[in-house]
Parts: sequence; C-alpha cells; structure tokens
Amino acid sequence: MNAQAAHAGGRGNQFDVLVVGSGIAGLYAALTAAPRARVALLTKGALDDGCSRYAQGGMAAAVGAGDSVELHYRDTIDAGRGLCHPDAVRVLVEEGGARVRELLDWGVTFDTQDGELLLAREAAHSRARIVHARGDGTGLEIESALISRVRRSGVTIKEHTEVVRLVVDDGGRCIGVETVDTQLGTTGCVAAGAVVLASGGASRLWRNSTNPESATGDGVALAYDAGAEVRGLEFVQFHPTALALEGAPRFLISEAVRGEGALIVNERGKRFVLDAHPAGELAGRDVVARAIWEELQRTGAPCVYIDCRPLGPTAPLRFPAIAHACVQFGIDITRDLVPVAPAAHYMIGGVSADLDGATTLPGLFACGEVASSGVHGANRLASNSLLESAVFAHRAAGAAINSLGEAEPPRFAAGAAERLPLRGSAEVRRLWSDLHDSLWSGAGVVRKPGGLRLALATATAAAGCAEPSLPAVRLRAAARTAGLVCSAALAREESRGCHLRSDLPQSSDQWHGDYVMHKERGARLDRHL
Ligand SMILES: Cc1cc2nc3c(=O)[nH]c(=O)nc-3n(C[C@H](O)[C@H](O)[C@H](O)COP(=O)(O)OP(=O)(O)OC[C@H]3O[C@@H](n4cnc5c(N)ncnc54)[C@H](O)[C@@H]3O)c2cc1C
Repeated sequence: MNAQAAHAGGRGNQFDVLVVGSGIAGLYAALTAAPRARVALLTKGALDDGCSRYAQGGMAAAVGAGDSVELHYRDTIDAGRGLCHPDAVRVLVEEGGARVRELLDWGVTFDTQDGELLLAREAAHSRARIVHARGDGTGLEIESALISRVRRSGVTIKEHTEVVRLVVDDGGRCIGVETVDTQLGTTGCVAAGAVVLASGGASRLWRNSTNPESATGDGVALAYDAGAEVRGLEFVQFHPTALALEGAPRFLISEAVRGEGALIVNERGKRFVLDAHPAGELAGRDVVARAIWEELQRTGAPCVYIDCRPLGPTAPLRFPAIAHACVQFGIDITRDLVPVAPAAHYMIGGVSADLDGATTLPGLFACGEVASSGVHGANRLASNSLLESAVFAHRAAGAAINSLGEAEPPRFAAGAAERLPLRGSAEVRRLWSDLHDSLWSGAGVVRKPGGLRLALATATAAAGCAEPSLPAVRLRAAARTAGLVCSAALAREESRGCHLRSDLPQSSDQWHGDYVMHKERGARLDRHL
C-alpha cells in the first residue's frame, strides 16, 4: 500500500496515537497519551465490553506493610516455571505501586479499612497483596472509573468499530487500521502515527471459558498477519474453579475465596489437592487446575466442589458478585457446596512486546492480555494481569508518543467502502462451533498430539472460509489465532506451567525458552540464558 496516496477519510480519521480496545489496558493507554497527543480509541463493542470488567479478585501490588517488591518479584518468578523475563517482572513489581496510586487519583475506589487499602491473599502469593474493590467487583470498579475519565479526556471514542486489518506501509511500518462498523457492516480506515494494540485475549475460543464474547484473539491474528512476531501461544491458562452447572455460564469462582479459607473437595468431601501439593488450595493455578482435571478423569465426575462454609456467614459481604451469581442457580455459598471445573481463562502468550510495549513491527505497540510482555512465563500468578495491563499500557503509551516523528500522521488510500452482511451462514456457525469444541477437547487443560492435530485441522478449515460476512471475518481471525496456539502446543514437546502434554509429562531443559512465530520467517525457540 502506498503511504503517500491521498487519505480517503480526511483529518477526522487521522490521529497521532490509535488505541485498539477499551479494557483496562486500552483505557489506561489512551488516558496516558491524551494530554500529549491526538488520540483515538476504537473498540469492537460498547466501551465496557471485554474481560476487564469481570475481574473479581483484584490487582496484585507490593503496597502493604510487611510486603516488598522483592517478595512480589520472587513469587511471580516462581509461578512462571522458569520462563518469566526477569527484567519485565522487575518493571511490573517496581512500578505497580505507582500505578495503584494513579488509579486512585483517577477515581478508582479500592476497598479500605480505617483509611488503609484492604489487601487480600491469593494462591501462590507469599503475602496478602491484592488490592480490590466492591468486594469481588474490582474490574467493574476500575473499568467504570476509567471510562468516566476517558469520556472527559478529549480522546475520540469509536465504539462498535472492529479492527480487521493493520495497515503497513512500503517501509514496513504500521500506519493505521482498517475497520468494520459492527452495527452497520460498513468498512473504513483510520490512520495514525502509532497504533497501540490492547485487544485482550482469546480464551473465549474454548468451549468452556470464563471470558466474554469479545475475547476471540483478534489481536494476535492482526499482528501476525501484519508481520509482527508472536510468542508463547501454547500457554493458555485454565482457571481451576469456574462454576460447572448444566446450562449456566462458566462464572468464575475467584482464587480470593480460597485465599480466605474456602476448600476444594471431591464428591466424597475429600481435600484431594493436598495430595498434589502441600500448599493445597493455595498452590499455583497450574497445579490446582491439573489436580482437578486428574480428579475428574479418575472419577468420571463432571465437577468437584468449593466449600465456602469455612468463611462463615459474612462470605456474601466479602464476595457479593460470587454469592449473587450462585444464588441465581439455587446455591447459597454459606450453606451449599459450589460445583466447579476448569475453564479457559487467560492467554499468557501474545504479540511479542519489549519493556515499552514495542512489538517487532515498527509503529505497533501492544499491552494488556494481547501482549506477551514476558511477566507471566509459563504460568500467571493470580491478579498479576490487571497490574500488567496498567504498568505496560502506561509504558506503551509513552513510547508510542516518543516514536512519533515531527511529520503529520501518515495518510493512506482506503479501498472503496463496502457493506458486509452482519449475519453469517449456517456453515459459518457450524465452523465456529467446531472450533470451540476442538480447542476444548484437543488443546484443553491436558493435551495429546492427536487432539492438537485435530484442533489444528479444524482451525485451518475455519480459516479457509471465504464467506464475505462479518461473522466470517471474525471466524477467520479467531481460527488464525487458534491455529497458532495449536501449532505452538504441538511444537513444545514438554509439560511446563499451564501447557500440559499427557505424552510428555515432564519439563525439559531443551525447552527452556520462548517459542516465537513469524509469518514469513517461521518459528524458533529463543532460549533463556
Ligand atoms: C472472569 C474473569 C476474572 C478475572 N479476574 C482477574 C483478577 O481478579 N485479577 C487480574 O489481574 N486479572 C483477572 N482477570 C484477567 C483480566 O481481567 C484480564 O487479563 C485483563 O482485564 C485484560 O485487559 P485488556 O485490556 O488487555 O483486555 P480486555 O479487558 O479483554 O479488553 C479488550 C478490548 O479489546 C476490544 N477488542 C478486541 N478485539 C478487537 C478488535 N478486533 N477491534 C476493536 N476492538 C477489539 C474488546 O472489545 C475489549 O474492549 C480476570 C478475567 C476474567 C475473564
């Protein structure tokens, strides 16, 4: 595409910084950039769509007495099973406190007692260090406060605007995006000096998932197709304890519940996680998910149970959203056991990003769940992802502005505007359904090569769907990302963190590194020293 060609949209569609996504990462990046640049924020649904608003437990930060960045650093590195990037973790823990204070300045109300932040304990954290809001409504509180601020910030907001392609000029620089209006089906484009991708994760692609519908991995497909490197895609975190009731959504039962004393038991009331790890219910997420999965395989039961009764009668006050969700299904958490099973929850891998969110594609930055910043290694420590989103969005926004030249933002020619049908065919719906099922059975909690190959074939078939409709455009992006996940999971011939292979149950020194993929250059292992 010729970057010098006349820009079809005029200055109204030309910005210094363009942010894609309106979860905590996108909002944080837009708010950081807004005082210094002309910023646009594009998001495919309403502003509050995305995973962020559903975050329950909170945001980890070493801000309490008796805690230290050193302890937070150590816990994060330990959880990551050898694959964390130490420099990224250092940035995460050292800048965490400043971001918590900034969120307070921006109007987020965290839970306090006697003027002090209340701090919760979660699995694999050696200290109580999780700041939270509205009990278990941390994401909703942060998202609401940031949305209210961004609406007053001068940022140009475009809701229901889905990015379907990153535009790259002849010099290999990302200069904008192509879009589809998700309510009208009309295509468009927006040019920018720098693009910050904050489009979230992909866990909704699995049949059983804690994520909302928006989490279909668009960002990985967009960046990969535009020529950016992606890495670590085999590491998909399965949350051990999502509500497991026929017909009910996989509502998350947060780790914070276990941090306050809830237990995991099997049908006979036995605490079986203790057999897998001495920390029992407070062991790392990968350990607990695997223990539950194996228990389900062993017994053939559809679920295990969380027993919240040790929390006493005040549990609904501390966890109002969880208590409310359970009541909808006739479960009183002060009295009844809560049926749970693992569900796809968080994409650890993503678009390779450095400490400033810069990807390998000039002009493109990435932050939040879509990025692989290196902080989570092979297994994310609970409540580190809201923190990661804030810390690296702040950095990415600053770096995006610093990357802008003196010149006007780029211009490029858009193709003729089209109108895509908003409804897809029955064939597209079938391909979507097959993709969800094949990922769950083939690339789920514990993987086998045969299942991964089947899932890869299903993803490849879906990616080949040529139908000209918005659901088909989305399917192709989702299938692209799903195929990359399966390829990476097939390539990594070991088990590590949340990537578990039944045929290769041990970790191997040979795989002590990041599996990196590039559209033209192929794949390689970047070994950690
Ligand atoms: C139920 C649940 C509970 C959680 N609890 C916690 C917790 O307690 N602590 C914690 O640290 N983490 C938690 N997490 C994880 C955490 O919420 C997410 O990792 C984090 O919010 C990701 O933020 P984000 O801004 O990167 O992505 P999101 O919040 O998912 O936002 C992505 C945005 O990008 C938009 N988008 C996507 N594709 C496109 C496209 N093609 N074009 C335009 N826009 C697009 C989406 O609509 C959305 O606005 C939880 C997650 C879930 C699902």
